[in-house]
Amino acid sequence: MELTYTAEQRAFREEVRAWMAASVPAQPLQSFDCEEGFRQHRAWEANLNEGRWGMVTWPKELGGRGCDLIEWLIFEEEYYRAGAPARVNQNGIFLLGPTLMEFGTAAQQERFLPKMATGEEIWAQGWSEPNAGSDMAAIRCRAERKGDVYVINGQKTWSTRAVWADWLFGLFRSDPQSSRHHGLTFILLPLNSPGITVRPIPQLNGLPGFAEIFFDDVEVPVENVLGGEGMGWHVAMSTAGFERGLMLRSPARFQETARRLVQLYLANREQADLDPAIGEAVMRAWMDAEAYTLNTYMTASRLVKGGRIGPESSTNKIFWSELDQRMHETALSILGLRGELLPHAPDAGDVDHWLDGFLFAQAGPIYAGTNEIQRNIIAERMLGMPRA
Ligand SMILES: Cc1cc2nc3c(=O)[nH]c(=O)nc-3n(C[C@H](O)[C@H](O)[C@H](O)COP(=O)(O)OP(=O)(O)OC[C@H]3O[C@@H](n4cnc5c(N)ncnc54)[C@H](O)[C@@H]3O)c2cc1C
Repeated sequence: MELTYTAEQRAFREEVRAWMAASVPAQPLQSFDCEEGFRQHRAWEANLNEGRWGMVTWPKELGGRGCDLIEWLIFEEEYYRAGAPARVNQNGIFLLGPTLMEFGTAAQQERFLPKMATGEEIWAQGWSEPNAGSDMAAIRCRAERKGDVYVINGQKTWSTRAVWADWLFGLFRSDPQSSRHHGLTFILLPLNSPGITVRPIPQLNGLPGFAEIFFDDVEVPVENVLGGEGMGWHVAMSTAGFERGLMLRSPARFQETARRLVQLYLANREQADLDPAIGEAVMRAWMDAEAYTLNTYMTASRLVKGGRIGPESSTNKIFWSELDQRMHETALSILGLRGELLPHAPDAGDVDHWLDGFLFAQAGPIYAGTNEIQRNIIAERMLGMPRA
């Protein structure tokens, strides 16, 4: 592993930095878990795409820059450093996009990727069901083949931002005789199809960041299957690798949180140092964010040479989600009682969005597969322990 950047990589960093400095909105956008915020974030995606920064790893003909994963990490570092908006189409560009490149037909890639890149079509993920969360192989939502359509019936839940998203990628049981991982099919469908009801679920902060989705004889053309009928589990495992591994949560996000945490500590040091554990927690957070970054560079270097990520995406997922929780807990310890104030409260001072971040960090060990399940995967596939 080479720990210095090449001249090209340094020039690339400068280019990203300059574009971000000129383009990142001066005022933060509203939360993308509310309708106006969602619209604002969609407009930002279009803006990014115009600068060809939407997804730098995509091929040039799809609006990308053909960058490798090291350049992508550099892009992410500059993105977070600039305080750029969160990516409202993360399900599309980080999860479905790479899956389409691996399993999609040329026609599917041509149809879906460009509109994903512009933010014209925002994607939601439809995997979880009321009785199929950790145990995703228990999926029951049916897709019955009738001529050249699938007819879908059943329910999905916890679908992030499906209230405003345009399309859904989901896993459905296409073979009624099948069980567990067999007989599942990965299907792409528009959320405005007749027979679909999307019902918002409010989050802890009251915003409708989730939805449950009901399917009542929804017809989807067979050409919307990704990877072939019955191949759903295989395709979904590839998507999950992108989700837990490098793409969904790059180290830059945690480096930036660690940097803000150090600033918060320094600004409140007199009070914070009354509890020596706080200074230590800040230092640990910084070191852990750096360690995660270096580890990711190591993985990326391997992948650039043609390797695959495999079960280590589970160790990554546990590490970043628990680090995020610790960093936000430390920030709230520094802020003390003020930590419970909203950023616009009269005495808020430097409380910023730490409380919101703390609430969201609680979800980290749950989404993208719970940490308990990741520990099972590590035990079985990395340590060779017997199945639980
Ligand atoms: C912020 C957020 C966003 C999400 N977005 C989406 C989305 O867009 N699309 C989507 O489809 N889903 C989404 N989800 C749902 C998420 O994938 C599920 O919540 C998750 O898979 C857990 O499933 P569950 O909630 O049904 O919990 P359960 O599976 O009921 O688990 C309950 C508890 O039991 C533990 N447990 C279960 N089985 C085992 C086992 N075998 N060994 C050890 N422990 C076990 C779990 O770890 C957990 O602690 C999201 C969730 C969150 C929090």
